[in-house]
Amino acid sequence: MQRLGGRVLTITPATSSTQKGESLADTIRTLGCYSDAIVLRHPEASSAATAAKYSPVPIINGGNGSVEHPTQAFLDLFTIREELGTVNGLRITFIGDLKYGRTVHSLLQLLEHYTVTIALVAAPGLELPSDLREQLIRRGQLAAEATALDDSLVSMSDVLYVTRVQKERFADPEEYARVKDGVRLDNKSLLKAKNTAVVMHPLPRREEVDEVVRAPASQCF
Ligand code: ASP
Repeated sequence: MQRLGGRVLTITPATSSTQKGESLADTIRTLGCYSDAIVLRHPEASSAATAAKYSPVPIINGGNGSVEHPTQAFLDLFTIREELGTVNGLRITFIGDLKYGRTVHSLLQLLEHYTVTIALVAAPGLELPSDLREQLIRRGQLAAEATALDDSLVSMSDVLYVTRVQKERFADPEEYARVKDGVRLDNKSLLKAKNTAVVMHPLPRREEVDEVVRAPASQCF
């Protein structure tokens, strides 16, 4: 926004009226009087719908709980087009925490508009929510599902989209410890990948993509 010449007002929950018990609806009504659009990133699943209901200006959802992250998904779609020239005809493999990975949920919604095939790789307990999985089946896009990444899944993919296990979503730390190391991409597994394949990650990266897997020096990450 700064680069586009816009100005930004930010609110910090720790020092804002939310600390005094102000509802999200009232915060949004107030901020809407001072801005042309509101970008909301909020831990509650219902936050985006609440904000959209009460806001006098457009709401842009930058992440609501573990449900959706549309702004990241548009960036991901743009990145695929920039890197591979098209989205149509690609095989996109989603790897990692497909249950709580909200960027995965939103990108899958956008991919409805493209002719793609999709593979899902998640450790038991981290599978894609059933409603999203059923949508993929109805759309005829679900090509493969696995609980571990193998060479054939890597070699068939044009995009390897990896997410970290979302530690903050687990009520039980033991449950997180049980699943956190389930799937890992490293340079050895990438030896099997197509020359043109791209690895994508919405960041932050943890153990699921080995530290030695890097973007070319010409790119900023
Ligand atoms: N940055 C992404 C998000 O906000 C991915 C992540 O946190 O793992 O959802």
